[in-house]
Amino acid sequence: MHPMLPFDMTQTRLVTEFAASLPFPVIVVGSDERVLACNGQAARMFGENVVGRHYVTVLRQPMLLDAIETVLRLSEPARALYRLTEAGRDLQYNVHARPVVVDDFACVTVAFEDRTEVEEAGQMRRDFVANVSHELRTPLTAVLGFIETLMGPASDDAEARKRFLGIMDREAKRMNRIVGDLLSLSRVEAERRVRPKETIDVCALVRSVAVALKPVAKARGVTITLDGVEEAAELRGDRDQLTQVFTNLIENAIKYGGADHEVSVCVTAHAQEPTLRGAALRIDVADQGDGIPPEHIPRLTERFYRVDSHRSREMGGTGLGLAIVKHIINRHRGRLRVESHLGQGSCFSVILPYD
Ligand code: ADP
Repeated sequence: MHPMLPFDMTQTRLVTEFAASLPFPVIVVGSDERVLACNGQAARMFGENVVGRHYVTVLRQPMLLDAIETVLRLSEPARALYRLTEAGRDLQYNVHARPVVVDDFACVTVAFEDRTEVEEAGQMRRDFVANVSHELRTPLTAVLGFIETLMGPASDDAEARKRFLGIMDREAKRMNRIVGDLLSLSRVEAERRVRPKETIDVCALVRSVAVALKPVAKARGVTITLDGVEEAAELRGDRDQLTQVFTNLIENAIKYGGADHEVSVCVTAHAQEPTLRGAALRIDVADQGDGIPPEHIPRLTERFYRVDSHRSREMGGTGLGLAIVKHIINRHRGRLRVESHLGQGSCFSVILPYD
């Protein structure tokens, strides 16, 4: 880019306003290699008062500087990658540097395309595949090992055969539960934008879930108490999905609430619920377990996240239950709240819009 005429006041204002109108960070560098304009989003990245400074002192990363130098030298477009860390989060931009030449006037536009979310989604997908593979591989390895033993050294040992088949049965059922939960999760995700149409009575639904889980509770000496479920409370919802929400929450309360304790389920209606800013039905599922350390609470609904992996597996958990719960509640435009006090138990609250 040969030295060109400097921009006058009007041209500079036009470039500045143009940059300000764009919904992504943009810096404009003049042919004198000084910053001519910088919009608000770019100012947040590179600081205020950068206009008039040499671009090298503003955009310090070598790849970015090389790209702009190329444009200035060859008047050809160039691209670069720009990374920075902000509040502990790695941000990534594709930077497009392009020459703009009109008669005797020229400048370089440097536009930042935010790739952070795309990169994060890719990373999440990779992590998810790795997690699924890992979760399935453990029981699969056990099953394969026992098949080999049964076909070889233990083929004539009736006692061992019975024991090994018992373990294989348990491990195969675990794989089945994982695959079942993965399918539920993908179904819920596929329907996430479809509003539920059925009218259902949440109290009747909670009662029937409690009846269905009674044998599970009994096996651990746990009693389930219900409160506020006598009268009907109707709202628009997906029966199967809400059944799954309360099954998962009550089952967790039974599993992690400690043997011989009580699990209480309480339904209350609120004319003005602060989080939903409107009428809501609130279903609290409380247990008397050890509670959950506060640092784990925000992550409980992540797929495969467990506070204590060993305990979860021991209890037959897949680590997907609360992820499913969260997705179903989101589809119903509700909220999940978790409150827990160490040594006193946890309370999972489902808050659903109640019109
Ligand atoms: P899992 O199949 O492991 O139970 P979930 O997604 O249902 O998976 O729950 C994730 C984790 O949250 C569990 O592994 C457990 O550590 C913790 N958790 C869930 N519910 C409770 C509860 N009521 N009390 C204590 N911890 C709980």
